[in-house]
Amino acid sequence: LYAPARINSRGWDLANRADLNAFLESRSAFAQTQWHAAPLIVGAPSAATHAREVFSPASPDTQIGTVRDATADQAASAIAAARPWNAPVATRAAILNRAADLLEEHHGEIFALLAREAGKTALDAIAELREAVDFLRYYAAEALANPTLAPRGIISCISPWNFPLAIFTGQIAAALAAGNAVLAKPAEQTPLIAHLATRLLHQAGVPDHALQLLPGQGRVVGAALTGDGAIAGTCFTGSTATAQAINRTMAEHCPPDAMLIAETGGLNAMIVDSTALPEQAVRDIVASAFQSAGQRCSALRMLYVQRDIAEPLKEMLFGAMDALSLGDPWWLANDVGPVIDPHARDKIAAHIEQAQRDGRLLKQLEAPANGWFIGPAAIAVGGIDDLAEEIFGPVLHIATFEAGEIDALIDRINARGFGLTFGLQTRIDGRVDHVTSRVHAGNMYVNRNQIGAVVGAQPFGGEGMSGTGPKAGGPRYLPRFAEASGPHNAL
Ligand code: GLU
Repeated sequence: LYAPARINSRGWDLANRADLNAFLESRSAFAQTQWHAAPLIVGAPSAATHAREVFSPASPDTQIGTVRDATADQAASAIAAARPWNAPVATRAAILNRAADLLEEHHGEIFALLAREAGKTALDAIAELREAVDFLRYYAAEALANPTLAPRGIISCISPWNFPLAIFTGQIAAALAAGNAVLAKPAEQTPLIAHLATRLLHQAGVPDHALQLLPGQGRVVGAALTGDGAIAGTCFTGSTATAQAINRTMAEHCPPDAMLIAETGGLNAMIVDSTALPEQAVRDIVASAFQSAGQRCSALRMLYVQRDIAEPLKEMLFGAMDALSLGDPWWLANDVGPVIDPHARDKIAAHIEQAQRDGRLLKQLEAPANGWFIGPAAIAVGGIDDLAEEIFGPVLHIATFEAGEIDALIDRINARGFGLTFGLQTRIDGRVDHVTSRVHAGNMYVNRNQIGAVVGAQPFGGEGMSGTGPKAGGPRYLPRFAEASGPHNAL
């Protein structure tokens, strides 16, 4: 089979003066921009809802735009107007590649929006744009390599605010590459970036009837897009509870062979044994737990450190935390931005306050007063069973273990039923084989951080309560968007 050459986006290297200037100059034109989002649907009358104001999580007094949410009626008319994209696969792939080029060309506006609307630091924004571009090119290449895939029909793509460009674009790119019609519902918190990305996809040549955008509330728009017999499948990233609700809605309203891909939460652990290189472990713990303010489903929540090295390792870790700078992600010096909204801030803060009352708060950084900031925190726990649920923010739980206890703690980790990412820091090769063969997790990382899976190289997805698979950015993803009865699925 012919698969065209494809390389991932080179991105922007801020250590390189030319790239740094390009980043700053291109973004500066959008420093004061007000953006507007609205449903992009075929032939429907203009939105009936009034415009909702959108504010920046780093600066909640600063309005950055408005959005008109879609209504349930608009969702119904979008479903009725949706038509699979029946252009030849070579045309579809060329258009998706053009969309990737357009995203890269509009990098200044995208970097600005990612900082303003989603609170993304410069490094996170760059990684996110790269990932969106990589998804487009990867699924375009996969479609060319699998030209017999037949589309399922209409796919609802429901995406999260924590990767408002990369996951939004990745879901859509896969569904479109296979020739489906897409109804895209971005997260309530991040409609502006979704609107820009959708306009660029249309500008690249994706027909309006093959891609419609429905910003809005989950209980209105999400419910309409998953509770209609015309829907052939849903691709969802978000909480486990919402995935279960979607599953129930689809079971009731959609054909029995409708597809559901769900990528959900996790209680991701890392084990650091006494042979680990402390400097490396600390760097990887900080990135895994606190980059993106911990708002990644891949993020490290539960750190196990072997008792012999626990005290010096914690001392180094807390020193490294002190070096983090928190603040408006617009400024390059800031490593950690805000959490997404006041609801998230309050929930995470309550968790940390409880730990403080219990005398288990080991460390917390000061947070800026304005904006939805949470100071990165470390909390002592006995083990993973002390975590009632995933806390989606910059909060690291730490426990110690004794030599000989590793199998028992892996059993406890597995028993929680999640299985997204897992980290191991050790210099014993036999332990790598032993631990990685026992742990149930979609993505395992050894002697490195456990976030930032790379499209095409590290397919990303979990098992159990962490998701249905197949993994995004891997070879099994695209075929799931194709008809179950096609020759490719004849096994
Ligand atoms: N793919 C991302 C990573 O590897 C996480 C995606 C998510 O948070 O949903 O860090």
